[in-house]
Amino acid sequence: MNSIYNLSREELEEYFLSIGSKKFHALQLFDWLYVKRIKDYNEITNIKKEVIDDISSNYSISPLKIVEVQRDKDVNKYLFELNDGEHIEAVLMMHDYGISVCVSSQVGCNMGCRFCESGRRKKVRNLETYEMVLQILMIEEDIKTRISHVVVMGIGEPFDNYDNLIRFFRIINDQKGINIGARHITVSTCGIIPKIEEFSNIDMQINLAISLHAPNNKIRDLIMPINKVYPLDKLMPCLKEYISKTNRRLTFEYILLEGINDSEDCALELARLVKGMNCYINLIPYNETNNIEYKRTKTVQIMRFYDILKKNNINVTIRREFGGNISAACGQLRSKKEEV
Ligand code: SAH
Repeated sequence: MNSIYNLSREELEEYFLSIGSKKFHALQLFDWLYVKRIKDYNEITNIKKEVIDDISSNYSISPLKIVEVQRDKDVNKYLFELNDGEHIEAVLMMHDYGISVCVSSQVGCNMGCRFCESGRRKKVRNLETYEMVLQILMIEEDIKTRISHVVVMGIGEPFDNYDNLIRFFRIINDQKGINIGARHITVSTCGIIPKIEEFSNIDMQINLAISLHAPNNKIRDLIMPINKVYPLDKLMPCLKEYISKTNRRLTFEYILLEGINDSEDCALELARLVKGMNCYINLIPYNETNNIEYKRTKTVQIMRFYDILKKNNINVTIRREFGGNISAACGQLRSKKEEV
């Protein structure tokens, strides 16, 4: 059965009209679902019984199953079981500026980035919108606090699940519902050009992050197969266009892999590549995985890389690391259950 958490408020309005009922019920239902957070349609008091019966026979209100929570000092990792028995993960992080949740967008991933654990399992399917929405609702219920920031940086390539992703944004951003500000939402992509173009036209100020990880095609081809489809000489102009169209600042993520992309020459080349763009670079210390091909860059070299970018007037930060102890760190969102 379809889930009620799949529908944006506009879609609910259409639904109510289609059954000959009133449009304003959409607002009421949104309030029950996302403000009062009911678990059962029977709790609804201001919509007629016949209408509720129609909703409940067409749309399920069931939650996801949380099968495991690993808790560490300022990070929790949640393992969810989906209705078809698949598993996905989400990670909650407590920052000084608020609480963020890193959500998954697919079961598995087809992008095949060499260094990433998530991609070791091929895509099984896209997540439906409700499966993304419920990651947020259920974590908020668990911690009994509101989440302030959402990043779509869990398992999957969000722009390979574009329509469900945008509907997810509409629902969590809706001021009459969960109401997470667009500026507090970030989506990360490995660089799917047609979707970046589409994304530059949407009417929400959501942040975009690009997994860059290399300053030239030669290195990027080696570690990110998607670069053969959308190489840097096409991606960079597309991103410049995105910035000028949206006036938004772009984030580049750059994992430092020892001996691969972390030399001083790479830093200089990277500085030249992004020169003049309204952007900042987030350097990510690589989380070592079972994949012995890649090693984490030593801290002194990370600092050298950082300094070169700084000297070249590039905005740069080094990502704070969360969740190393509970394998909730970037790229490690892969449940032990599914280990092959
Ligand atoms: N597919 C999207 C969303 C995943 S985001 C994307 O590629 O952007 C997850 C981020 O973590 C990406 O920047 C990814 O490249 C990075 N990552 C993957 N494995 C990692 C690892 N072992 N250590 C640090 N970062 C990693």
